[in-house]
Amino acid sequence: MAANNNIYDCYRPPAQEFVRGEGPYLYTKEGDKYLDFIAGIAVAGFGHAHPKLVEALTSQAANLWHLSNMFKNPGQAELAKRYCDQLEWADKIFFTNSGAEAVECAMKTARRYQYDSGHPERVDIITFSGAFHGRTMSTVTAGGNPKYMEGFGPAIPGFINLEFGDHEALKAAISDTTAAILVEPVQGEGGLRPLPPECLRGLRAMCDEHGLMLIYDEVQCGAGRTGKLFAHQWVEGGHPDIMAAAKGMGGGYPLGACIASAEAAQYMVPGTHGSTYGGGPMAMAVGHAALDLMEEDGFMENVIQVSNFLKQQFEGLKDEFPDMIEELRGKGLLMGLKLKVPNVDVRMKAMEHGLLVGTAGDNVLRMAPPLIITEDHVREAIEALRKALTDVKNKA
Ligand SMILES: *Cc1c(COP(=O)(O)O)cnc(C)c1O
Repeated sequence: MAANNNIYDCYRPPAQEFVRGEGPYLYTKEGDKYLDFIAGIAVAGFGHAHPKLVEALTSQAANLWHLSNMFKNPGQAELAKRYCDQLEWADKIFFTNSGAEAVECAMKTARRYQYDSGHPERVDIITFSGAFHGRTMSTVTAGGNPKYMEGFGPAIPGFINLEFGDHEALKAAISDTTAAILVEPVQGEGGLRPLPPECLRGLRAMCDEHGLMLIYDEVQCGAGRTGKLFAHQWVEGGHPDIMAAAKGMGGGYPLGACIASAEAAQYMVPGTHGSTYGGGPMAMAVGHAALDLMEEDGFMENVIQVSNFLKQQFEGLKDEFPDMIEELRGKGLLMGLKLKVPNVDVRMKAMEHGLLVGTAGDNVLRMAPPLIITEDHVREAIEALRKALTDVKNKA
């Protein structure tokens, strides 16, 4: 049956058509203005059309677009070094075009490490309920959400999905065939659940004890989202062996990375992995400019200050609407409200009041605004949310 256009019907976008962005605002064809508090789901961290990113992309576009990794890509080694210099455990990077590809590379790196270091039987990757790792065949299996796997054939073997927070189940699940544990330091899609610091340290200790690779998926919570370059940097002694990153790294240009220690990556030799577009000149140019912005004085401080203010304001809203807001979720500017009314209703009403927000699992209203917002933007968002909550309340 033909729908009203030729695009796969996997998404149901609203009627508004955005044609322009500037800072944290988006504009429709008709010129209507919206405050963007979702930023392409934690992607446009520097807002829209940031002059430095535009300059980096356009000057690169005038020079050289594509080579493939069969040649040295301009800027690639330098960007890899800049990221590794920020992470004391990291030595090697494979650049990708997306989060799912970064997770795929991380899982391949972990299995290959076990295979070549004398444990070819270690193939299983342990993951947790509420996880989200992407939409490719293996990353949906890793995420373990049955809704995302239905109708796509047999689940790929080699994944064990455990209940989030069930320590006993985790201990029991580790066996001779376990290769790695894969976890998001802050679950995004699953409802903005941060893993407590002691859990990250516990996972590190467990992986060391059993010779497992610890993989973090920081695709959503990385790139400055929590006020540090990566979320796990808040936790002393909680570093991974391998990490997937993407979303915010390119500020809207497709750029991801699988980052690994020298030990973990040592067997990823010629022929083991590849990508046509990954790490290309355009992505590298934007990646450098994005990292420049994140390294500017005051950038991370702004994320921390504004997110504290946002949290205070959310507390206020919760007191105002105790029948509608159950709790605050998240970390830094990856923040949400777990609601007692349908999250999609509030999202739609918020849009009517000029505010764009997202949803996540567990009936959470998800917010991931550009990292450059000010307290005034927060006030504007809270005002729109107050109106949206009031509308939904009066309708009920
Ligand atoms: C978005 C996301 C992915 C998948 O990234 P894509 O770029 O959509 O492939 C993987 N992991 C997490 C935690 C994500 O939020």
